[in-house]
Amino acid sequence: MRHWRQWIDPTFADPELEENYNAAYLEENISITRISLWIWQSANLLLIGMDYLLLGCGRMFFLVLGLRLCAFVYFLLFTRFLRRVRLVAVYQRTLFVAMIIGAGLFLAINLTRPPTYLQHTVVDVVGVLCLYLFFPNRFLYRLLPALLLTVGSILLYIFVKTVLNPGIILVTLVSYGLVNFLGLLVSARLYGARRKEFQSHLAEQAAQAKIARLAMEDDLTGIANRRHFYRQAETEFAHFQRSKRPLALLMLDLDHFKQINDKYGHGIGDATLIRFAKFVAAQIRQEDLFGRVGGEEFAILLREATAEQAAAMGERIRAGVAQLPVPGGGAGEHFKVSIGLAAAAEWDASFDSLFGRADRALYLAKKQGRNRLAIAGEELKEGENSVAQTSILDHGSSVSVVDSAGGNSTDSGLGGGRPGD
Ligand code: GH3
Ligand code: MG
Ligand code: MG
Repeated sequence: MRHWRQWIDPTFADPELEENYNAAYLEENISITRISLWIWQSANLLLIGMDYLLLGCGRMFFLVLGLRLCAFVYFLLFTRFLRRVRLVAVYQRTLFVAMIIGAGLFLAINLTRPPTYLQHTVVDVVGVLCLYLFFPNRFLYRLLPALLLTVGSILLYIFVKTVLNPGIILVTLVSYGLVNFLGLLVSARLYGARRKEFQSHLAEQAAQAKIARLAMEDDLTGIANRRHFYRQAETEFAHFQRSKRPLALLMLDLDHFKQINDKYGHGIGDATLIRFAKFVAAQIRQEDLFGRVGGEEFAILLREATAEQAAAMGERIRAGVAQLPVPGGGAGEHFKVSIGLAAAAEWDASFDSLFGRADRALYLAKKQGRNRLAIAGEELKEGENSVAQTSILDHGSSVSVVDSAGGNSTDSGLGGGRPGD
């Protein structure tokens, strides 16, 4: 069973959620309040005619008229003030204070009207209902002005009961009791439904954000997936073409990864990939792009990094990875990575070209014996077109290779690599 409080007070239990809800609906709440105040004040002005019929052109009529006009001007100024409110707390507190003062004003008007006429002030009863329904304030902030108007009005009836039929007092008590009860119940339903709508809207937003994230993220490692990496890299490459600021790409492929899977199983293989991605993510700078571009193949696009800087970074990653144990593997069981590096150059017509060169450098690092970093060589610059460059590299023309000890050497062949480390 629902807690009794939920039947009359729909406020979220989580204060942060409540705050967000109020902030999201602030503008709507303010316009509901403003419209209601206009309607309430129109009724207030309409009753001037009825006051005149009852009181004639006497002193009391002008007193009531003065009070009605005061109430009208007061609420008019308040509706104008509400237009400029931007904070939930300001809206709620000022509305509360305004309603307390407003309730006081209407009690004063009722006090100065002829007692025989009091029981006809349906406007008061409707006003109480409005306080619940059309002033979407905090629970207590709505309850207190409504109770002030209710108790004040009932006391007024009792105060003048000598000229009233006691039956009317009963009717008054019942009608005010009922209107408070209904007001509480209906407003809780109304604003409870709106809170539910807000909550499902939040859930929908979260689900959409999750879908968007999943579309960009690699499931296993949480880093950018191939598509997202490529998209961002292409944008970055376009920036390079305009600005000519240095840009470098590292391609990384785990060595003999199949053996890890075969020896320890896919689960350990997955954990290795996660450990690797985590390690690399901690090494790179915030502005670098890191993505998983294949099963055990990764790429890092380094913004504002020259070939030398990228080589230093790649070498640091290679050496660091070599120290990482296979998670859950045997003692001293390490995994290694080979890295291909290419710095973006004028002759790269597109990101694909840069990607291809880094990939071929990686291929060479594998051929050279793995656990090393290979750099797509400067000689490529002389090539006439990318096809020619490809063939130069594919035929083993020189690329500079940083060996596992970190030294630079120039190698002119694909062969001669040690079998894997
Ligand atoms: P090399 O040093 O030449 O790169 O050898 P390798 O064994 O790493 O390369 P190969 O391309 O022969 O094998 C890659 C393996 O990576 C094969 C595949 O089962 C494994 N792999 C690809 N994606 C995943 C994955 O998400 N999880 C696991 N556990 N293994 C994967
Ligand atoms: Mg591999
Ligand atoms: Mg591979």
